[in-house]
Amino acid sequence: MPSEKRILIIGGGLSGLTLAYLLSQQQINADVLEASSRIGGRIQTIQGPLGTPLELGATWFNESHSRLLALLDTLDLKKHPQVTKGTSLFQTSNTEPIQKFSVPEEENQSYRIVGGTQQLIEALIQKLDPNQIKLNSKVIQIKMENDGLKVGVSTGELIAADLVVVCLPPQATASEIQFSPTLPDPMPQLLPLVQTWMGGSIKFVLEFEEPFWKKSGYSGMAFSHVGIIAEIYDHSNEGKTKFGFTGFLNATASRLSLEERQGLVLRHLGELLEEKIPNPSIYQDKIWTDRLVLGANPIIQRPHQYHGHPLLLQSYYHEKLFFAGTETSTEYAGYMEGAIRSAERVAQQILKEKG
Ligand SMILES: Cc1cc2nc3c(=O)[nH]c(=O)nc-3n(C[C@H](O)[C@H](O)[C@H](O)COP(=O)(O)OP(=O)(O)OC[C@H]3O[C@@H](n4cnc5c(N)ncnc54)[C@H](O)[C@@H]3O)c2cc1C
Repeated sequence: MPSEKRILIIGGGLSGLTLAYLLSQQQINADVLEASSRIGGRIQTIQGPLGTPLELGATWFNESHSRLLALLDTLDLKKHPQVTKGTSLFQTSNTEPIQKFSVPEEENQSYRIVGGTQQLIEALIQKLDPNQIKLNSKVIQIKMENDGLKVGVSTGELIAADLVVVCLPPQATASEIQFSPTLPDPMPQLLPLVQTWMGGSIKFVLEFEEPFWKKSGYSGMAFSHVGIIAEIYDHSNEGKTKFGFTGFLNATASRLSLEERQGLVLRHLGELLEEKIPNPSIYQDKIWTDRLVLGANPIIQRPHQYHGHPLLLQSYYHEKLFFAGTETSTEYAGYMEGAIRSAERVAQQILKEKG
């Protein structure tokens, strides 16, 4: 039986979509308003010209991420181990030789989703009615009125709702959404101080025809305190038929152009692997600093600062307004696991209120 209440979920990232899916499993309909023209938020997989799924956002998880593993199972998605076999590298300074080490494959195994992390987003969307998701719908206002809530969208639309769940990084909520009446103190002061996980990071991907690094016995994993590449990992697909790398750039690289970053990444990779790097079929990167992630005034925060704060777990506006999103999670905040747990928490709160 469809719900008579109108529920609006703000944000079409993993938490918002998981929540819409969990509610739909209980025959409760909820619409998702997503600001961007793209669904998935901090999950973004692109396909290389040779068909390799390349992650610009979330990539890895491990056996302790129990809710993510359960969701993958339910959605019939498979995982595959991150390759670590071979010689890995650690460059501590320009003056010291690069250190070599190897990681036993079974140690702290991390996994990726077969076909790319975006498969998780696609599988959740498949479970929803396409009309439930509205792209290009940036929420700028949430108002409580006598008869319920009104959600103002940047398109000028004002949508009535009985329940609203904000599934955004709190820093983006703080600067992009106006609440009327103002949320009770100290919630307005807290929101901009909740660190956005991976906000400001620069993830890069490379695709190659051949896994040339394997011929020299390298795992593809390297860490550097010196050059433009801070971390790099083998990014070959599960069938080992498509090849590439992913990793993180040093934060100062944001000052350079894409072409400059590409040139420096290939030069640094050549220095690490001590060989001339063939032309990649693609170099791409993403600097995660846009307002939908960090809001307008990103202040540098301690990692995980105020994640899972009790004020983020409360409801507001007489149990009509809730907050989810990975930063609200009391466990695994920041990770995909935290996003799923936050959606499960709010789904339970809504169901409790209903029943
Ligand atoms: C580079 C990078 C690497 C990462 N690596 C990993 C990893 O390896 N493993 C891991 O577990 N996690 C990783 N993460 C974290 C993971 O991506 C997040 O935990 C998860 O995707 C967060 O989901 P979310 O729904 O809470 O938030 P988001 O994904 O941020 O979703 C919020 C959504 O809200 C939308 N939005 C924003 N403002 C508005 C508005 N005003 N109105 C409407 N919509 C709005 C945004 O466009 C976005 O789609 C990584 C993140 C990044 C950026």
